[in-house]
Amino acid sequence: MATANATQPKVLVVEDEDTLLFTLAHNLRREGYAVRTASRGDDGLKMAREEPPDLIILDVMLPGVDGVQICRLLRRDSDVPIIMLTALGGERDRVAGLDIGADDYLPKPFGMRELLARVRALLRRSGARPAKISPTPVLTSGDFQLDPGRREARRGGELLRMKPKEFDLLLFFTQHPGRVFSREQILDQVWGDDFFGGPRTVDVHVRWLRQKIEPDPANPVRLRTVRGSGYLFEG
Ligand code: CA
Repeated sequence: MATANATQPKVLVVEDEDTLLFTLAHNLRREGYAVRTASRGDDGLKMAREEPPDLIILDVMLPGVDGVQICRLLRRDSDVPIIMLTALGGERDRVAGLDIGADDYLPKPFGMRELLARVRALLRRSGARPAKISPTPVLTSGDFQLDPGRREARRGGELLRMKPKEFDLLLFFTQHPGRVFSREQILDQVWGDDFFGGPRTVDVHVRWLRQKIEPDPANPVRLRTVRGSGYLFEG
């Protein structure tokens, strides 16, 4: 993990969906932000007060204190930029989100690039310094090394040639070993808005990936198919 320094804008993410929280934090750190996370509303509110961030990404539906309440409470004494995330679409919710003092609003599901663009825009407006890109840690799993910053994957030191989505897929699995993910979950997490196919897209990429990471691609032991459920990365 990159060490926080004074030039990095501080972003607080309050979101109770584990996978989304992880993905948000990972992408924000990759952009050079110093990220803190909370999965409960009350924790998020406490963190925002104890160490005021430069920007808050705030889910609406949260255990503890909900996002709307947090936004109202913070607005009493703070003009920190707030982006609200909500699973509830529609104009009414949008207006509700803005009326309580949020600066921006993103209905779920949203694309990571869209979110990052809005974060940059809000920070620019509020005068926080542009993010300085910090080195990202290299992940290792068995004889693999993944460098998310360089977008390079190596096996036993040897560089693997990968399509961008194969790399994203391997990165995702490396970060979530020992858990079964359905094709739909994988599409959502790895492809997001870039997606123009069906669940078969996942199968095709898994097949390509296995050619590169499995000792015997016909009998996969690292990236396993779980019948009726999806895929599981053994790490
Ligand atoms: Ca939620």
